[in-house]
Amino acid sequence: MSGLKKKANYALIGRVKASVYIALGSNEGDREFQLLRAVAETGKLSGTRITALSSFYDTDPVGGVPQPNFLNGAARLETTLDPHQLLTELQRIETAIFHRKRDVTWGPRPIDLDILFYDDDIITDEELVIPHPRLHLRRFVLQPLADIAPDFVHPLLQRSVADLLASLDSPERVVRI
Ligand code: ADP
Ligand code: MG
Repeated sequence: MSGLKKKANYALIGRVKASVYIALGSNEGDREFQLLRAVAETGKLSGTRITALSSFYDTDPVGGVPQPNFLNGAARLETTLDPHQLLTELQRIETAIFHRKRDVTWGPRPIDLDILFYDDDIITDEELVIPHPRLHLRRFVLQPLADIAPDFVHPLLQRSVADLLASLDSPERVVRI
């Protein structure tokens, strides 16, 4: 994408810790174990702890690639990592712990870790878009997120997570396990 900065300059100026929401998904192997392992690994990152965890939901895959159902969840973290450091660490967990390969876009994966919100920050560069650009369209993201952050207001859309979920009319199945 031309015109976008390779990496936005960023500093946690004046902030001790950021409050961050992440989405977790798995549709390969032992899905529940892998979500729990990913939560544990994320909680062990430098300067980071898990402060809330949603229920897990069995969800229909979206995006057109035929593949098994996902198990999805959401977690809240407190972290001193900046957004790009956090992305790098989450990608390291995906690759080093779960041996995730990136061959098929939106194809089956043992784990997918996405950053949904990072405080109220708005970030758009080649590596990172926050708030996550598709979160408000996806029941499999909004439903678990509503467990732990129903009143959080999307900093661009200025609507709460519960409100975004209530106004979704996509038919995808999302069932709490
Ligand atoms: P997806 O999550 O869309 O299925 P990937 O997990 O393979 O796809 O991520 C593709 C790229 O998305 C990553 O290399 C990363 O740089 C980029 N990306 C942009 N914004 C985000 C975000 N908020 N969270 C995670 N990855 C992001
Ligand atoms: Mg991802």
